[in-house]
Amino acid sequence: MKHPLADKNLYLLDMDGTIYLENDLIDGAADFINWLRDTGKDYVFLTNNSSKSADAYLEKLKRLNIPADRSNMFTSGQAACIFLRDLKENAKLYVVGTESLKAELRANGFTVAEGPDADVDFLLVGYDTELTYQKLVDACELLTREVNPVPFYATNPDWVCPAQKGKYLPDCHTMCDMLERATGKAPFYIGKPRKEMALGAIKFKGGDPARTALVGDRLYTDVACGVNAGIASVFVLSGEGTVEDIEKYGVTPTIVLDSVKDIIGCDAE
Ligand SMILES: [Mg+2]
Repeated sequence: MKHPLADKNLYLLDMDGTIYLENDLIDGAADFINWLRDTGKDYVFLTNNSSKSADAYLEKLKRLNIPADRSNMFTSGQAACIFLRDLKENAKLYVVGTESLKAELRANGFTVAEGPDADVDFLLVGYDTELTYQKLVDACELLTREVNPVPFYATNPDWVCPAQKGKYLPDCHTMCDMLERATGKAPFYIGKPRKEMALGAIKFKGGDPARTALVGDRLYTDVACGVNAGIASVFVLSGEGTVEDIEKYGVTPTIVLDSVKDIIGCDAE
């Protein structure tokens, strides 16, 4: 029988728990990436973290000897660029986000407003590690203004971001919850598990959804993203997920593997 991944030529890869665990490479991950390269397959790392630019991740991958450049990295900030550009070219945004996210948006043709201007098209909230009270005030003003309250978008639906020593930091969803409490308005979230994240990454790579597989260690974000996008999904048990999660979350991957190492050779006759 043909392997379910036999014809896949583009892999969308989660990082933490799939390629590395904190600062250590997962056994066989480097072999897997080398196999992709040797057999002419393409890959892109997905991250919901919109606080850092792709470069911060590239440095980490480089330290771990995983070959990758800008063409192998796709953040929820990039997904937001594609998503919002489809709604309106060159829109004016008010951004509750880092300077790095704002730079990415400007590079994609958006105007970033300095304040709650009357002509702002969309409010975009990211994982803002540079959050100020003034940004929250401005966002509330835009969401509740009487004439044309702005549509509300957010880069990623994570409440927390894992930090060192098992601790967690407040992420994008937690910041949006403050605004929701204050205004009664909730955002549309763009990152994993939304299909927009996977479809955006495929568009970014010029890939074919039918020949793409998404690989991750979290069922309710990674695998769910693949399922929502209608593409093949691989649930790897090298990170935080367990097989019990399949019943718990009601999300069914195309295939369950111990790690990415087990994908090697899936295209053999
Ligand atoms: Mg992960």
